[in-house]
Amino acid sequence: MDNNCIFCKIISGEFPSHKVYEDDDILAFLDITPVNPGHTLVVPKQHYCDLLNLPEDLACKIVSVIKKITPAILAGVGTDNFNLGLNNGKKAGQAVDHFHWHIMPRFEDDGYELWHGREYKAGEAEEVLEKIILK
Ligand code: 5GP
Ligand code: ZN
Repeated sequence: MDNNCIFCKIISGEFPSHKVYEDDDILAFLDITPVNPGHTLVVPKQHYCDLLNLPEDLACKIVSVIKKITPAILAGVGTDNFNLGLNNGKKAGQAVDHFHWHIMPRFEDDGYELWHGREYKAGEAEEVLEKIILK
């Protein structure tokens, strides 16, 4: 429990939320400012700041929960497509410092655009790859 963390307060019940799913380790609740209806946040009950700090077993468990609850969320709001989002770190847009996945239902013509990519220049991909060293 981190006393400065909004999500820890939601998990403890100090702050209210619209709960979608709960078990011993994980809570899923509706995002307060949804990109679309049904936008759900899935969080570990223990405070971990990001994916790289999250223990492996909990990371796997969260993905299982996402697979379990997403069909019901999508059926509930009337679609069969969604984006799964993870903002990891401030530069990536993470505002709440308690690890969470976003399940975001998507609708035809809902106005959201995906990432704008650009092509690598000649030799650039190889240069990048050389610097990625797995230990
Ligand atoms: P982030 O930018 O950290 O990936 O996303 C944080 C998300 O938490 C945002 O989509 C925001 O709407 C949501 N959020 C922030 N405060 C609250 C809250 O008090 N209750 C709920 N249900 N969602 C919150
Ligand atoms: Zn927390």
